[in-house]
Amino acid sequence: MTAEKSSALYARALQLLPGGVDSPVRAFRSVGAEPLFMKRGAGARIVDEDDNEYIDYCMSWGPLILGHADPDVVRAVQATAAHGTSFGTPHRFEVELAALITGSFAGIEKIRFVNSGTEAVMSAIRLARGFTGRDKFIKFDGCYHGHADHLLVAAGSGLATLGTPDSAGVTAANAGDTIVLPFNDLGCVEACLRQHAGQAAALIMEPVPCNYGLIMPSTDYLRGVRELCTRHGVLLIFDEVITGFRLSAGGAQKYFDVRADLTTLGKIIGGGLPVGAYGGRADIMALVAPDGPVYQAGTLSGNPLAMAAGIATLAKLVPGAAYAELRGKADFLRDALRPCLDTYRGRCLFQQIGSIFSFCFTDLERVSCVDDIRTGDMRRFARFHRAMLERGVYLAPSGYEVGFISTAHTEDDLLRTAEAVQQSLAAVLG
Ligand SMILES: *Cc1c(COP(=O)(O)O)cnc(C)c1O
Repeated sequence: MTAEKSSALYARALQLLPGGVDSPVRAFRSVGAEPLFMKRGAGARIVDEDDNEYIDYCMSWGPLILGHADPDVVRAVQATAAHGTSFGTPHRFEVELAALITGSFAGIEKIRFVNSGTEAVMSAIRLARGFTGRDKFIKFDGCYHGHADHLLVAAGSGLATLGTPDSAGVTAANAGDTIVLPFNDLGCVEACLRQHAGQAAALIMEPVPCNYGLIMPSTDYLRGVRELCTRHGVLLIFDEVITGFRLSAGGAQKYFDVRADLTTLGKIIGGGLPVGAYGGRADIMALVAPDGPVYQAGTLSGNPLAMAAGIATLAKLVPGAAYAELRGKADFLRDALRPCLDTYRGRCLFQQIGSIFSFCFTDLERVSCVDDIRTGDMRRFARFHRAMLERGVYLAPSGYEVGFISTAHTEDDLLRTAEAVQQSLAAVLG
């Protein structure tokens, strides 16, 4: 595997972009290597500048549930672009995508499109504060909700990878209304809501935390949180930027049968183009401008290209068969991995929920909080990552990230992946 062209581009990028990248975790620092520059993708495969081909499980960090360059998505984007890329006026595709999403998420009666998951979360928190007249909000250790100031507190992979618990440039005042709790501990939520009675506007969570490794929630926990929020008049926000249209067409909410008051979406709903959205109960959304006093706007919000890519993607997901197919593929991979995972039991833990998976070099049998993830050996992950790359499998370049299976992954891809895992684990663990 040569990386001459990637390496040359990276050298140039380092002179022009901080860290040579536009998003920190892309820089490969936590796996102690240099990033690869990709030039094209099709289905489950990506090809770098040096013409190395990989089976991809990063999938642009989640959006590409149909694989790279899905023909229907590409056609929709091309056809839309030919008629203009942005109008700054309402567009029929906003209505179409909104109908697809509200039809799938029982808890989303109205929705507003923005340009990123970060923006969606930022706006949802503002809305929750406007609705309740309260300032504080609760988040969980290890949950990532984008990079808005008040959310960069105990927040997930990019930060974990850099070893900074907080970001410079975030003022104490900004972080001061953010309460951080450990995940999967209902007693903590109850105590906190009692202590801050009447002060918390919202509780925000990734229903399945995917940004600090993969943390498995218990269904009772999610239902318990729902009940406590209702009892204390605190809005429950599910950040489904990853899990929305990933775990099911109704997201984690349908998967676990728990309904949030507000939901944030991104990634999959833009089909690989920049998008975010927040939505929920109609009485809460009624406060968003121009209907209400909570201001929020965007020059490119509801962009026709992004809406077209989203519609083409959701059209293939909403009928529901795609989720059985994805689960079949995930089960197939797990079964193919079983013999080697048995061999390395107690040293490497493979976790999976729907089409999301993770490898953690821990002796635990299940990861249910950030302290569990912290038992993971990230140096081992780095060696594993390198070994997988050498065998033509591209995993996200951090042990704090998850992998995504798409509908484009074939049984052959999955078998080859299992083989690569077996060889890489042998190389790393002996
Ligand atoms: C990716 C992500 C975000 C941020 O979305 P961006 O589009 O990167 O701003 C927010 N929340 C969760 C759960 C995410 O995974």
